[in-house]
Amino acid sequence: MDIRIVKTGSPKAKPKDNELGFGQYFTDHMFVMDYDAAKGWYDPRIVPYGPFELEPSCMVFHYGQAIFEGMKAYLNKDGEAVVFRPFMNIKRLNRSAARLCIPQLDEDLVWEGLRKLLTIEKDWIPKTEGTSLYIRPFVIATDPNLGVRPSHTYKFFIILSPVGAYYKEGVKPVKIYVTDKYVRAAEGGVGFTKTSGNYAASLYAAEEAAKKGYTQVLWLDAKERRYVEEVGTMNIFFKIDGTLITAPLDRGTILGGVTRDSVIKLAEEMGCRVEQRYLSIQEVYDAHKAGRLEEVFGTGTAAVISPVGLLNWNDNIIEINGGRIGEVSQKLYDRITAIQYGREEDKFGWVEKI
Ligand SMILES: *Cc1c(COP(=O)(O)O)cnc(C)c1O
Repeated sequence: MDIRIVKTGSPKAKPKDNELGFGQYFTDHMFVMDYDAAKGWYDPRIVPYGPFELEPSCMVFHYGQAIFEGMKAYLNKDGEAVVFRPFMNIKRLNRSAARLCIPQLDEDLVWEGLRKLLTIEKDWIPKTEGTSLYIRPFVIATDPNLGVRPSHTYKFFIILSPVGAYYKEGVKPVKIYVTDKYVRAAEGGVGFTKTSGNYAASLYAAEEAAKKGYTQVLWLDAKERRYVEEVGTMNIFFKIDGTLITAPLDRGTILGGVTRDSVIKLAEEMGCRVEQRYLSIQEVYDAHKAGRLEEVFGTGTAAVISPVGLLNWNDNIIEINGGRIGEVSQKLYDRITAIQYGREEDKFGWVEKI
């Protein structure tokens, strides 16, 4: 399918690398395509970034039939624009789509649209190490109709936002609040998808934790509220007696992160044992008491590795590794970023050039 291109007549001034923050600025263009039942996905196009009109009755406003993705483009050490494992994200978008009754997208067309968009916006990729161009693909249901049913029409977008370095002042371990009062996802639900409602539903618990001085919430399983699942927008790993443990994906309650998968593959290659199994929060605390809890870290596209320095579970506070980043966490961070920036050979074929 041909991608139509309409260039902006008024390109914007670009923000400075040190003023970027996260998700505040948007580039000059966006990729858009439409769906209706008769035509399928049609009219893929790159057009100036800007507002568009929808009727107030538009389905996405009422019942939340919406999915999204998050990935990054950045300049490697040779100044080439690259993306990390984009097909993992595109495939995950389609898994989210299937669960939300949204029609499947053509994976090659999405990649082609993203590549063309990134080619046009290459100058928007910030140059300072650690900064990147955040990529936000998303789909919304657009039928002007208040019936509770899947929409017959959709819009797909890719928008781009230059973002600052996550660790401007060096890697800083975060404080995490373990909640057994609220839950994120139950078996049979939509926990494994990046659907908007999951994030709306998490805000209240995150606000409560923030008021107590915590960065994020650690969710336990919805049924027994015993087993660790994941953090707000990150998967989580615990290193106990030299073994990395993270929750398995088989219950469909956890988002299968691209970074999670990369960490598992790299850790195994480094000779570190990795277990995907249910780990109770009690076991984490027992391991800490016995001096066997060595490291805890979150994984996600934004931070890559986010060390956890402190956990609070029902006001039982434990400090991990003296509140400093652990050795394996640091090594994994260094290896993944080295592969991303082309300082290390891309043995797994993870990096796609634009
Ligand atoms: C996006 C996300 C992650 C991390 O996924 P990556 O592909 O590694 O960025 C983990 N948990 C949740 C709930 C997420 O939304």
